[in-house]
Amino acid sequence: MKIASDIQTLRNHLRGFSQSNQTVGFVPTMGALHKGHISLVQSSKRQNDKTVMSIYVNPTQFGPKEDLASYFRPIEKDKELAQSFGVDVLFLPDDSMMYPEHTPIRIHEAHFSNTLCGAYRPGHFDGVCTVVAKLLHLVQPTRLYLGKKDAQQLRVLTHMVRALFFDVEVVGAPTVREEDGLACSSRNGYLTPQERSIAPEIYRALTKAAVEFEEGERDRKKLLRQAQDHLQTIDPIDVQYLELLSWDRFEADDVVTTPSILAIAAVLGKTRLIDNVWLTP
Ligand code: AMP
Repeated sequence: MKIASDIQTLRNHLRGFSQSNQTVGFVPTMGALHKGHISLVQSSKRQNDKTVMSIYVNPTQFGPKEDLASYFRPIEKDKELAQSFGVDVLFLPDDSMMYPEHTPIRIHEAHFSNTLCGAYRPGHFDGVCTVVAKLLHLVQPTRLYLGKKDAQQLRVLTHMVRALFFDVEVVGAPTVREEDGLACSSRNGYLTPQERSIAPEIYRALTKAAVEFEEGERDRKKLLRQAQDHLQTIDPIDVQYLELLSWDRFEADDVVTTPSILAIAAVLGKTRLIDNVWLTP
């Protein structure tokens, strides 16, 4: 595995791939790698000649009161994992490299970013769009691998890629879960043992609605109520939002007739967790 800690080295490594017409899959991450990240690498390796991963904790997507300073950065362990799963190039930029401009420049997506996490994390998706646009310009991959776990991020970035004519195929990969159903996340490491034992209830609540949906229920309010009723029994879980939105428009339809997501953000202790399930008629 080649490691690039600066842009010139990254470009030198990538030049060989483009000169030999090799396809490149790109997996952007913030590190603290887990099974979810690894599944993206595995998808990329199946579909491309080379796989590039970035690890960068992007400051512009964190709010002033969020966990930027305390975000896990186990870089040596991450390097070992990336190497053992066959990443070809690992890009490890720093802030001065990613944001050389003295006056900020931002990409603002103005529809899909407004709801769900965007409503609770002002500016978050501007930061996500901006850093991913910069990374795409640098890596120029054939395919971009994103997790469905961050469904809104996938929606916003798919839109950005189309709207700004990036020549890349976006691949949304299924959410990888722990055995008890909790979606793998770098932030799960913040949970106390007691919070960790409660956290799978978030997915259980979504599953209750998904089962109703499979059995034919299409009424938005009834589906939401299934999940809400379950969550109400779990006292320490503080739900920020629980929402059912169509995938194509991100709108709340009374009756689910098109592929949709049931998405949740909930706070457990000091940890904010997100999850979602797809409801496809
Ligand atoms: P992060 O390091 O949290 O920014 O995530 C990097 C990429 O991994 C994003 O595309 C995430 O959606 C994806 N990802 C995170 N957790 C999971 C998971 N449990 N299953 C699948 N993909 C994930």
